[in-house]
Formats: sequence, structure tokens, C-alpha cells
Amino acid sequence: SLPRLPVFEAISRHDPDSTAVVHSASGRHFRYGDLLADVCSVRNRLCERAGRSDLDGERIAFLVENSYDYVVTWLAILASKAIAVPLSPAFPAPELQYILNHSQALMLLSSDKFTPKAEEVLRTELEVDPLHVRLEKFQGSGSAARSGAPEKVTLEETGSGSAGMMLYTSGTTNRPKGVLLPESVMTAQARSLLQAWEYSSSDYLLHVLPLHHIHGTINAIYTPLFSGSAVEFMFPFNADAVWKRFAAPFLAAENGHLNGNGNTNGHHIPDSPAKLSRPRPITFFTAVPTIYSRLLASHKTLPPVVQHAARTALSPSNLRLAISGSAALPTPVQRAWVELSGAAPLLERYGMTEVGMALSCGLDPADRVDGSVGWPLPGVQARLVDLDTQRVLDPNDPADRDRPGEIQLRGPTIFQGYWRNPEATAREFVYDDDAPVNGGSVKNGTTTNGTSTTSNGASRNAWFRTGDVAVRRAPPPSAGLSDRPTQRSWARGDMYFVLGRRSADIIKSGGEKVSALEVERELLALPIVAEAAVVAVPSGRWGQKVGAVVVLHPPPGGKREKARWSPLEMRRALKGRLAAYKIPQVLRVVERIPRNAMGKVNKKELVREVFLEEFS
Ligand code: ATP
Ligand code: MG
Repeated sequence: SLPRLPVFEAISRHDPDSTAVVHSASGRHFRYGDLLADVCSVRNRLCERAGRSDLDGERIAFLVENSYDYVVTWLAILASKAIAVPLSPAFPAPELQYILNHSQALMLLSSDKFTPKAEEVLRTELEVDPLHVRLEKFQGSGSAARSGAPEKVTLEETGSGSAGMMLYTSGTTNRPKGVLLPESVMTAQARSLLQAWEYSSSDYLLHVLPLHHIHGTINAIYTPLFSGSAVEFMFPFNADAVWKRFAAPFLAAENGHLNGNGNTNGHHIPDSPAKLSRPRPITFFTAVPTIYSRLLASHKTLPPVVQHAARTALSPSNLRLAISGSAALPTPVQRAWVELSGAAPLLERYGMTEVGMALSCGLDPADRVDGSVGWPLPGVQARLVDLDTQRVLDPNDPADRDRPGEIQLRGPTIFQGYWRNPEATAREFVYDDDAPVNGGSVKNGTTTNGTSTTSNGASRNAWFRTGDVAVRRAPPPSAGLSDRPTQRSWARGDMYFVLGRRSADIIKSGGEKVSALEVERELLALPIVAEAAVVAVPSGRWGQKVGAVVVLHPPPGGKREKARWSPLEMRRALKGRLAAYKIPQVLRVVERIPRNAMGKVNKKELVREVFLEEFS
């Protein structure tokens, strides 16, 4: 039996024959009906190896590829009441060492594929001595072992203990911090997303993201498990392969293998082995801006039939929802997507490791506004706080509209503290109340006003300082006023527009504040600029000055257009679009802007590397 966690209850209610997970490369699929029995067996194995009946609160690190086995392992750790610490196989050994040490991992689990990697790390000098457990592979539902009736698993009222997940932040601004997300917080995040994005059992999600971040885990696995959606893993990301997968069901239709137009949205297709070769249309896709821009570039190079079928796949009756987040979505990418798909803009949302998803545009295409990350999600309370005076900006005061402030958040979806870092926890939470807020409406009546203090630090009443800066602006007349009842319950009031990070992106130049994101947007609007990153460069005269690095589009002929566009000309082109003090004083053209797996630019590094001489 398993503890009665909400995620297990949800899984046990889904049609046991419906697909939970698909491996894109092999076409193997795994049923919801087998999931809990597999979770049970891995949980038992872990407890046996540790010689304990549960692993309450222990950190269990694991290195498993994006697969059914990852899902089972992750859930098995929750089922043992332990804290799952997913590791990225892309991390070099020192990074893995840091996480094993910092999390004080009791165990390190590895799949066959990553056992050598695990052994390599365990051979190095560690402050901890994790027990190494090699995991076996599971059989998919096409196999003989799996074709019978699924094994029944009972759920017991034993509480969740300290079950949860620990994710490390991207390390964009500093050393990665360990963010502890108790199972209750993970579940609150899933419920908020279920309500906002309406995941359902007819959703079929294509998963192309790494699995050591919120985006790939909570948004793209944990929440789908609640709704009974199918998740197909395709990793590492490859733009051509993604397009071919999008196109596949429609290519088949054109060849006469599928009835009608191949549109199965809203209809459940049973996954009998006979139908395995017929891929289902993707209804749900979530990715980061760099993935979308790579998709857009690759689409141009596809054979015309695939191009056409891929376009069909993007129509709203097939692809219900395409979401972008983790970094700001550049306007040209959004525009090109709309042009390509002929359909709705990407839905942009804002989130972070510490809070899951916090702000989101709406399902109704009218509730998506370029440059905006939308409204506080169900259950999330948000406010803006003046950067200098710490005064809470009043959403009802017109004088405060358009004034930048730090986004602060609270509610049941927010984490409660950094692992082994009480100083950071104390620094990032604020304890004042009764100031005006917006957001916070939840369908099932959950309130966020409880004052329960958790063992790990912050009280539920505290506001988390995101370090991100935003302004609020009224939505255009149609946005946020949709007739859809679920939309109306949370999408209302002003929309949020993220300007960037307080530390790295808000440049203070000669007494003026400049938003790096705003300048990046304008640079990207120049037809020759492919990528842009704007940073604060130390300046004796101004305190800080605006620095920019850009990557140029290759011209059709091949040679880079460096010669045709000098930094001076780019600056000239920005006049009239930006106030003089916002125009980059230093502008460098580079071949490549370094980004991490989630498409984020490490600006500290960039400043060090590109603008080194400016420090002298
Ligand atoms: P670290 O905290 O270690 O410096 P990090 O903040 O980049 O790293 P994450 O938690 O992975 O680590 O990323 C959260 C950040 O991503 C947010 O604070 C915000 O700056 C950025 N972000 C996420 N979504 C968006 C968005 N839609 N627009 C702009 N920025 C976004
Ligand atoms: Mg952060």
C-alpha cells in the first residue's frame, strides 16, 4: 500500500488503461493502471536497502533519464516520505558533488544509463556517504508482462510526513540555493495550474525539458498526473525531431492512415498495441523562449509536406495550449509564432523555483498581451513594493500605476525556506500585513491567511521577495474579461509586466532606472538582431551604464552582417524608440550568448567575460 497523498488518489481514479507516459524514441507506452504498483515496488526496495520502514524527511538524490522510470522513482521517493532531489545528468561532477553535500543525501539512485556518472561522483571526495542504489527498468504496456489487468494498490491514511522535493535554483545570480517544496506545496501548485490551464485526461503533452526544474517537473509531469493526461518524453531537445513529432499524426492522415483530419482533440483514443504506431496529436506544449526561437528557425528548413503538417498540428483545434516561460519571451519570437501557426499567441507565464508558477496570461487568446505575464494564478497573492522606499504600491491608486516595484508573493504555493540557509530565508521573506494586494481567489475556498509557522522558517503569512521587478498596467478592453467562468475567477485587475531582476536587470544610471528587459526588447526589434542581453556595466561617472551584447542574424548569403551594422548604427536606430539614457553606451557584437539549459543568460558571467576591460 501507499500513503494517501492527493497525487496517488488522483492516479488511482484514472482509467487504468489510459496512457500515462510515452517514450518518443521507442514508441513504448506506460499505463496509469501500472504506475502505483511500480511506485510501490521501488518504494519497498528503497526502504529495504535503508533498513527502515520509511525514509521520512531524508534527501534522496537520483540520476534518471527523462522516462517512465524517472516518474516512478520520483513518486516512490514521495511515497517513502522522503525528499526527492532530482539531479541533472548534464551537470559536471563538481556540481553534483555540491548538491549531494549540500542536501546531505542519504541515497543516490541511478538508472543503468547514468550509473557510470553516479559512480564517478561517488569516487570523488564527498562530505556525505550516500548509499548507491541501481534501478531496474520497467516494462511498457505493449509487453506481454503488462497486458493483463493492472495490480490494485491500496492507499492508507498515514500522512505525508516530510515528503517533498528539493530543487536547486538555476544559479543565475549566485550559487544555486536548495529550495524545499513540501508535498503540500507541490500539490497546491498543481491544483492552481489545473484550474488555470484546465489540464484534462484528453491532453497529450510533449515533454522536451530537463527534469531538475519546476517547469519540467511540476508543470509538465506532476500536474498532468493529477488530470490523467499523457506525457510523451522527447529529450534532449531537437527542433527537427519535435517538428516531425508534431507533424506525424497529420502526415499519416494525408497518407490515408487516419480517418478524417486526424483531429482527436476531446476524444479519448484507447492505446491498444495495434494503434501504437499511430502517434496522437500533441494538445499541450510548454517550453522556454530559446526553444521556441530554435523551432521557428528549424521550421523554415523542413521539407514542405512536414512544414505543412506541422502547421496543421499547431491549429488550436489540435494544439490546445502552447506555453512559454522561465525567461522573458521576446516580441519577435511571439510574432513569428503567431505568423507561423496562424493561431493564438503563446501563453506567457512567470514562475520561479521558490514559488512554482505565480503569474499567468489566460487561456482565452484575448487574455495574452505581448510583454505581459498576466495575472496572479489561483491561490497566489501578489503585490509590488517600491524599490527604494519599500512602500507597497496600491493597485487602486492611478498614481502608482506604471511605477516599477519588486514582485512579492504569498500563498499555499510558495516555498517556506531554503535548505540549510536560514540567512537567505530570513532575508527573502517580509512580515507585514494589511497592505493592499491583488489576486488570491481560489475556487475551492482555500484561504492563505493562516498563520501556521512551519519548522523550516517562514510563516504562511510572510511575503516572499522574488527579486524581480514589474509594473502593473490595465489590460486592453477585451483581456481579462472573458466569459469563461474559470478565467473570470482569477484573471482580473491589472496585468503584470516583468521588467527584469532587481539585482542584475535594473540598471541605475545617473539617477535613472533602466529595465534591461525593455532595452533587450527594443534591440530585438531591430531586424538584424537575433539575440540580445543587456547588463549593468560599472561606470565611474554614472554609477552604472547600460551595456549590451547582441548576436546578429546571418544574412541570407552567409557572411555575418557585422560590416553593415556597426554598434553606432544600432544605437542610432534605437533613438526615438528609447529615451537617451536607456540607449546602450557600450554595445558589443558577439557570436554567441552563453545560456543554461533553460535558456537563461548568466549576466554576472557575461559582464565578467565581455565587459572585463570596463572594470579597469
Ligand atoms: P538563482 O535564483 O539561482 O539566481 P534563477 O532565479 O534564474 O537562479 P529559477 O528559479 O530557475 O532560477 O528562475 C526564476 C527566474 O526566472 C525568475 O526570478 C525570473 O527572473 C525568471 N523568469 C521566469 N519566467 C519569466 C518570464 N515569463 N519573464 C521574465 N522572467 C521570467
Ligand atoms: Mg532566483
